[in-house]
Amino acid sequence: MSDGAERPRGRADDHAPTTPGWSCGSCGDEWPCATKRTRLLAEYGGDRAMLSVYLGSCLAAAAEDLRAAPVMSLQDRFIGWLPRGARRR
Ligand SMILES: [Zn+2]
Repeated sequence: MSDGAERPRGRADDHAPTTPGWSCGSCGDEWPCATKRTRLLAEYGGDRAMLSVYLGSCLAAAAEDLRAAPVMSLQDRFIGWLPRGARRR
């Protein structure tokens, strides 16, 4: 990612979730994808509590859409990746 400014995809680089499948709209991975996770951590400045609230709301919405998926695996996917401890750097 040296000169991404001219990329034609533009806002397709949001790594926003697509519903109802909850895959990443940019890279197609399960949302939140690795890129989105990194961005969320940066966006929330490592505030795990705030990020948990946000991801919890996403999880609730995803659980509605992905009824076939086990809730535990969804929790793991949406929230389980958060680093432990709310240490700010
Ligand atoms: Zn992505």
